[in-house]
Amino acid sequence: MRMSELIEVLSKEEIAKSVTEVGAVISHDYRNGTVAMVGALKGAFIFMADLARAITVPVQIGFLGISSYGKSSESSGTATITKELDLDVAGMDVLVVEDIVDTGLTLGFIMDYLKSKGARSVKVCAFLNKKERRSIEVQVDYACHTIPEGFLVGYGLDYAEDYRHLPGIYHLKM
Ligand code: 5GP
Repeated sequence: MRMSELIEVLSKEEIAKSVTEVGAVISHDYRNGTVAMVGALKGAFIFMADLARAITVPVQIGFLGISSYGKSSESSGTATITKELDLDVAGMDVLVVEDIVDTGLTLGFIMDYLKSKGARSVKVCAFLNKKERRSIEVQVDYACHTIPEGFLVGYGLDYAEDYRHLPGIYHLKM
């Protein structure tokens, strides 16, 4: 791993603060119920673990394996399920937990999938909201940080499976 190519965008401390704050807002909004948290693998695995512990109302945890269409600008919008959801969400208030929302295509796919599974409500919590390349309208109900641009790694986000373990968010200069 070549650390010299990484420029820190968010420190571990900034991340901890924003996750705690968003967890408090979610806890308030869901104060009368249980949150069925559905994490999109693999990128959301670290955020999911931190967010679940920042939420004070009861939660259930599920993971969905999703392989995105790739990073080409030609947006066919196809995503595929690589691992079926391991939580029954029928009648549940679902919170989709995403690492980053970029074009929105993956999230759109996940929303359709969860509605087809009979979720009572579906909201979205993204760690990073990168709005510049948004190509479909998706509602991000909760976001820890809004980032204008760049390819980011760390805190679950990878480049060719590297960098996921880094505690901060870094801009990867390629
Ligand atoms: P979208 O469908 O919204 O364009 O993005 C889908 C997926 O692409 C995200 O869940 C994430 O896995 C990946 N992605 C988008 N932007 C970035 C980025 O800046 N860095 C990394 N590592 N992955 C990204």
